[in-house]
Amino acid sequence: MESAEQQINEIKNNLATVQQNIAAACIRAGREPSSVRLLPVTKTVSAERLRLAYAAGCHEMGENKIQEAREKSEALKDLDIKWAIIGHLQTNKAKYLARFANEFQALDSLKVAEELDKRLQIEGRAMDVYVQVNSSGEASKFGLAPDDVRTFVAELPNYSSLRIKGLMTLAIFSTDHERVRECFIKMRAIRDMLRQEAPATLLFEELSMGMSGDYEIAVEEGATVVRVGQAIFGKRPLPDSHYWPGTG
Ligand SMILES: *Cc1c(COP(=O)(O)O)cnc(C)c1O
Repeated sequence: MESAEQQINEIKNNLATVQQNIAAACIRAGREPSSVRLLPVTKTVSAERLRLAYAAGCHEMGENKIQEAREKSEALKDLDIKWAIIGHLQTNKAKYLARFANEFQALDSLKVAEELDKRLQIEGRAMDVYVQVNSSGEASKFGLAPDDVRTFVAELPNYSSLRIKGLMTLAIFSTDHERVRECFIKMRAIRDMLRQEAPATLLFEELSMGMSGDYEIAVEEGATVVRVGQAIFGKRPLPDSHYWPGTG
């Protein structure tokens, strides 16, 4: 068993490696390294280990399941952690999200938008929100079809507690880098279209895309947020097909 100090150092080293890779990808693409935010993804990592991750410098944590995130936020409530929910949300869970999360990156229905807005108003706060787009067309992935994004976005000014920041996607899981890259290029095109056409109160600056296996490609294609878990915390015990049936 490694000591706490060894574990903290390991996480620090992994974070530094990922940051270096992000910076290198930025330079290849002629971008500023500071234009990319690294969101550590902490699903399946225990609250005890997240305490060490906090000491190693992770002050934001992304979780895909609201229940797991709630439990960890309770266990770690003495720390100043910003929680991001990055997975599909059932409408009846919006009330929990409104209580503790800092941002929601997986908006994909107006029902959820309406309920979340209502719950945020009750809590007296606003939240950063990303619209999830299914850029790969795979049935296992959540998110709006690219062709539906424009009509969806036109409704969002109705929900004044949602601060719409941009788009989120998971690319196709493939060893064929060009197919992965195509997903990211498609996302950038949709974001650029929305910047021109979306209602003025919605910003659409951000593109949350790229995970452990493909974040460097995502940065080359314009990601402003990358969501990285395994490259920081080590391999998860369950394969990707557990989270996204039919893939991985
Ligand atoms: C798990 C997850 C990630 C991170 O995946 P890694 O392979 O651990 O980097 C990113 N985004 C979402 C939505 C996830 O659920």
